[in-house]
Amino acid sequence: MSTAARELARLAETVVHCRLCPRLVRYREQVARDKKREFAHWTYWGRPVPGLGDPEAELLIVGLAPAAHGANRTGRMFTGDGSGQWLIRAMHRHGFASQPSSLHRDDGLTLPGAFITATVRCAPPDNKPLPSETENCARYLRRELEILTRVRVVVALGHIGLTRFLLHARERGFEVPRPRPAFGHGVSFVLRHPSGGRLHVLASYHPSRQNTQTGRLTEPMLNAVFRRARRLLDAPTRG
Ligand code: SF4
Repeated sequence: MSTAARELARLAETVVHCRLCPRLVRYREQVARDKKREFAHWTYWGRPVPGLGDPEAELLIVGLAPAAHGANRTGRMFTGDGSGQWLIRAMHRHGFASQPSSLHRDDGLTLPGAFITATVRCAPPDNKPLPSETENCARYLRRELEILTRVRVVVALGHIGLTRFLLHARERGFEVPRPRPAFGHGVSFVLRHPSGGRLHVLASYHPSRQNTQTGRLTEPMLNAVFRRARRLLDAPTRG
């Protein structure tokens, strides 16, 4: 096992036992007890959900938070709900996922060259974490960014995903333009590090139900983001 794989496994162990946010602990456990009728036969995960993917990832995807009956049920990011289906299908199409669906923790999905994370690890009521909860959880994204040293392209899902990622990038010494680049689907820019490092950031609407069911985000739009990510990673690196 590589050092990065060991460090991520250690981090995941810490994350799944986290109880720092009382409101979210109550909510995630309440949802796991009450369940949704169609998932009555499931034993819900009901705990924080760690990041998922390849320790040597060059592509990082930053989402918002687990869905109450999605990742909070299955225990794996973007697994068991519509957002996960959209995301994994687009990733699979461009070689970042081993299969086009993400249904449960043991379905064999792997993410070659990619890692999925989120700004918050516990399902929040109405998908809206409080600022204090996002702040509490920042320690885990911060640690992932320390471990995932090979990342060259970042897909930020939604406004919050982009904003939080840029805060972390600045902490890590990347030069983030001021004013910060505004969020918009398909917006892309490069962050430079004084040491010569570069990160290519692509913004995408989050594949949430509000976006996919209203047509704000279509499959071609999401595919275009991952096609761009694939092209950037496949392009010869400049010295
Ligand atoms: Fe811990 Fe993050 Fe869950 Fe808060 S949201 S309890 S910091 S894992």
